[in-house]
Amino acid sequence: MSIAFIDLAAQQARIRSKLDSAIARVLDEGAYIMGAQVKELEDKLADFCGAKHCLTCANGTDALQLALMALKVGPNDAVFVPSFTFAATAEVVPYVNATPVFVDCLPNTFNMDPASLKRAIVFARENGLRPACVIPVDLFGLPADYDSIIAIARENGMTIIGDSAQGFGGQYKGRMVGSIADITTTSFFPAKPLGCYGDGGALFTDDESLADHIESLRVHGKGQHKYDNERIGMNSRLDTLQAAILIEKLAIYPEEIVSRQKVAEIYNAGLSADFTVPETPDGLKSVWAQYTLTMASEADRASLQARARDAGVPTAIYYPLPLHQQKAYRAFPADPEGLPVSEDIATRVVSLPMHAYLDEQTQEKIIAAVTR
Ligand SMILES: *Cc1c(COP(=O)(O)O)cnc(C)c1O
Repeated sequence: MSIAFIDLAAQQARIRSKLDSAIARVLDEGAYIMGAQVKELEDKLADFCGAKHCLTCANGTDALQLALMALKVGPNDAVFVPSFTFAATAEVVPYVNATPVFVDCLPNTFNMDPASLKRAIVFARENGLRPACVIPVDLFGLPADYDSIIAIARENGMTIIGDSAQGFGGQYKGRMVGSIADITTTSFFPAKPLGCYGDGGALFTDDESLADHIESLRVHGKGQHKYDNERIGMNSRLDTLQAAILIEKLAIYPEEIVSRQKVAEIYNAGLSADFTVPETPDGLKSVWAQYTLTMASEADRASLQARARDAGVPTAIYYPLPLHQQKAYRAFPADPEGLPVSEDIATRVVSLPMHAYLDEQTQEKIIAAVTR
């Protein structure tokens, strides 16, 4: 029996008949674009996380771009992003002709370091940019340090976009991700904690005028009707089929979050004596998009991966190279003191299989394989 890094088949088997009838209903109804399921899903997602408005879109990258467009971020604006993240977080900033400024992360949570953000803001201003927006990422499912980041953003007149592509369903001091930043974005890419069977994304906000603006932007900047164009927009809608699938997946998501937490606790118990296990600050709840160990050295990581491979246990490295060191992003500004934590942890992190259907016996096998 092979061990899956993320087991989408087990989840599908659990709800297959519900998915089949949801898909069949879409085919019967024939409303493939913006069918009734899209609005139904948006209402359910907004209820789930306590946001006033939810607008779905084509993917998590578009969600970030739509957020920047709605917040009117543009030329001469600095947008502060972590370097230790998936490329999409930074990629959308040049799309709107703004400048990404890279910020370091904290070694214990992997999330944005508020002290580094402060230095980067001063540096951006000294270089003639207007600090406009910060995009903290809920990396590996753990909410960012929102209190500190929001305070810094407000002092500097900046807006906040929470990139919760990996963290939707997570909690920060009693609040769900989605109801904290000015706009929160997420992704329904299949491997994310809440995924569909293709590409999908969503934005959340409590601000009605931002919600109206996003609704227009995702359909070519429409005004009163489809052929009334008020602004330059995009074509970025969630397919009705994906919405129908997500309604069924969202129904079991709360249970899956509980299961993911149990899996993480079993890993913590079995691995904390030998390795640095992920830290969850008090008051925060992760949805464990990844379960990530920090090894003592790159060589230690290589030997853990070799041991795991020999035992048939898949592992992965998120992320092997921080963005500010990537060819596409090297020329953009960064914290003037450098990003030593991002550079260091990229050489030492390793992620283990993580999904809601990982049974205890398989976990014991994984723990034995990596600790041996
Ligand atoms: C996956 C991901 C995205 C992009 O989502 P897509 O739906 O693949 O476009 C953005 N940010 C982060 C942190 C991600 O992990």
